[in-house]
Amino acid sequence: MFENPTAFFERALFQSLGKSVSIDEYMALGGGSINQAVALNTSEGQFFIKYNELAPKDMFALEAQGLQTLREAEEIHIPEVLGVGEDFLLLEFIAGRRTKNNYWEDFGQSLARLHRHTNACFGLEHNNYIGRLEQINDSLENGIDFFIEKRLKIQAGKAFYEGYLSAAMLRQFDQLYAKLPGLIPNEKPALLHGDLWSGNVMSNHLGLVALIDPAVYYGLRETEIAFTHMFGGFHQRFYEAYQEAFLLEPGFDNRKDIYNLYPLLVHVNLFGQGYVSGVQRTLNKYCQ
Ligand code: ADP
Repeated sequence: MFENPTAFFERALFQSLGKSVSIDEYMALGGGSINQAVALNTSEGQFFIKYNELAPKDMFALEAQGLQTLREAEEIHIPEVLGVGEDFLLLEFIAGRRTKNNYWEDFGQSLARLHRHTNACFGLEHNNYIGRLEQINDSLENGIDFFIEKRLKIQAGKAFYEGYLSAAMLRQFDQLYAKLPGLIPNEKPALLHGDLWSGNVMSNHLGLVALIDPAVYYGLRETEIAFTHMFGGFHQRFYEAYQEAFLLEPGFDNRKDIYNLYPLLVHVNLFGQGYVSGVQRTLNKYCQ
């Protein structure tokens, strides 16, 4: 069990900043799906901390590495990592001001620039987490192979093993894999946030976008744009600005459900049966 929260936060601050910092006030923040999230007002200013005593031991360190990778691209505001332990992650506090008029446009352009950061291979030099599930990032040279082998097959296999997917659905997945080279464009590896839903999109002190909670890897950029559509989509201006900056191949709308099989399977494995019908719908759309 944790000691009292204030003592825990002060210990985390001391470990991270190398000096004693006193907590004036702390406020629990909603919105996180996995961990506890808190805003800290301290003698040294405001900080954000998330913590979880049951987290896998490397989870926060890998999130910190992902944040660092995105920050180094210098395209989108990503909170600075101030400290990390097995049970906490201390970050620069993102102020969350009212969004500027050009918020969505700026976001679309910034994401397009991020996606232009490329790499020799798909994947990343380390695995990380998507939610609390391990995300495998072994390198592959072909993006469609990567999507099949390191994304769909791993999650579909797990969902089958857990009893959520039937053998018939796995056969449909096999049919889909065979068709994929004809259905989706095999673009260059693109640096992806990897978990880009609205809950991970914030606004900063300038009223411009800041992104949190990534599951970074080099992947097919269409997977990221598809994911933004999964829970209703972002503002129209975001998509227009993205397209102006980095045009998608024609026909994207007809294939976005294919990409969203990955986050849907992740949802099946995290949250259970409720998401299986979505997987089935997409399989039926593309396979017998
Ligand atoms: P989880 O890992 O549990 O999903 P998140 O990283 O999504 O947690 O954080 C939970 C909530 O805390 C977010 O929805 C957001 O409102 C807030 N938050 C996250 N990072 C920061 C930050 N650096 N500054 C201020 N608030 C943040």
